[in-house]
Amino acid sequence: MKSSMKLSLITLTLTSLLSACGGESSSQAAQSTSNAPKNIIMVVADGMGPSYPAAFRNYNDDPSTPLIEQTIFDKTLVGSSSTYPASGFETTKDEQGNVISVAESLSNSYVTDSAASATALATGVKTYNGAIGVDVDKQPLATVLEWAKSTNKKTGIAVTSQIVHATPASYIAKNESRRNYDAIANDYFDLKIEGKFKADVMLGGGTKYFLREDRNLKDEFVASGYQYVDSLSQLNTLEPNKPVLGLFADVSMPVALDSSDKTHLTSMTKAAVKQLENENGFFLLVEASQVDWGGHSNDIAYSMAEMVDLAATMNFLYEYVQKNPDTLVVLTADHNTGGFSIGHDGIYKWQPEYLKHLKASPRNIAEQLANNKITIAEVSNLIGFNLNDTEIQQLADISLVTNNSEDVKVLSKNYYKAVTNIIDNRTSSGWTSSGHTGVDVPVYAFGQGYTEFSGFQDNTDIAKKLFKLMGK
Ligand SMILES: [Zn+2]
Repeated sequence: MKSSMKLSLITLTLTSLLSACGGESSSQAAQSTSNAPKNIIMVVADGMGPSYPAAFRNYNDDPSTPLIEQTIFDKTLVGSSSTYPASGFETTKDEQGNVISVAESLSNSYVTDSAASATALATGVKTYNGAIGVDVDKQPLATVLEWAKSTNKKTGIAVTSQIVHATPASYIAKNESRRNYDAIANDYFDLKIEGKFKADVMLGGGTKYFLREDRNLKDEFVASGYQYVDSLSQLNTLEPNKPVLGLFADVSMPVALDSSDKTHLTSMTKAAVKQLENENGFFLLVEASQVDWGGHSNDIAYSMAEMVDLAATMNFLYEYVQKNPDTLVVLTADHNTGGFSIGHDGIYKWQPEYLKHLKASPRNIAEQLANNKITIAEVSNLIGFNLNDTEIQQLADISLVTNNSEDVKVLSKNYYKAVTNIIDNRTSSGWTSSGHTGVDVPVYAFGQGYTEFSGFQDNTDIAKKLFKLMGK
């Protein structure tokens, strides 16, 4: 006879979180918390493990001064957070109690994806990788954004991915899988809090999920009183006190390096804050979605340009809090991506100068090469430094090896790898993974109630603290 025993599975208490959002005395409760911030801005930098803000400090350094200048991140650092998802092992023992098998359960232990971590940040509950706002039993969880809405705050999201991507989705939608983008988009319209739409402001990419053959959610939102905009320039002319759906790309926003507005997250955040301001306060989720995507591609030029936009966003929010001290801003990452290292292969240096003058993203340069739109000689101009003979040869070798015009995609991929390798060698950047890693992430906070986030915490604690500050 075998006895089976579950070890270290995370126990989840499924208290009636959603019904609590029905909020019998929610506004009363909110008032009872003396340090309750009027406005809360939660910023998630997807994939931003600790080496990214450290690299940004070096990137931002004025080399003519002896010290490295502090950045907005350094000035506002308060703690760190663990990021692991719900996970565990199922061990089977024989009659003598000897372990005869160990099997993984739920998720890859200790390494989270964006969905599980965003759900933790949004709800305070651990779940499995891929889950959007649901627990390990696929039951819906209440989020801090929903709670804010139930206490009559305005709510919004501003992100550089599609707005139905894992992080923003976890604050609004309920789905067993992050891949179900259409169903997640439907949730944005169909799921309501006390009859109200969950988000008053939605800015980012993702037109294709809202203008579909089977359903036109854009028209449904417009018919329900939303204004719709599809270009960033329209953010300056939004009608005040009217909810807004702004979709600026078919899927995700362009990478900052290729965008007409290199700080488009900052532009969206400014517009969102302006649109959300009201006497009851607001909850805004901001996501620098693509630090992660640069990390997945082991492309430090990509990630660093996203960090520049994030820093500009944080500088704007820092100034905003000086003028509006009843506002709380919290920034963290959902996990680390790429295992990016400052220095590689035993070389004791890192040279961010080579990241400062790109006129196009490495992927864009690679695509132009693959499509014969530029010659290798023209790469120096776009990459922002003169390629040496070895580097020119590295690119020339690719065109020889895969000189197959039918397979432009493969060619483009190989050029991309070569261009990022050239940048890695110039800067001495290292990578350990094409995916996520389980290192703790930094936590930054300022404004009313920010001391709550000091020291070490778990990602679920961040939601718990936000709930508490909002009187739940
Ligand atoms: Zn990722």
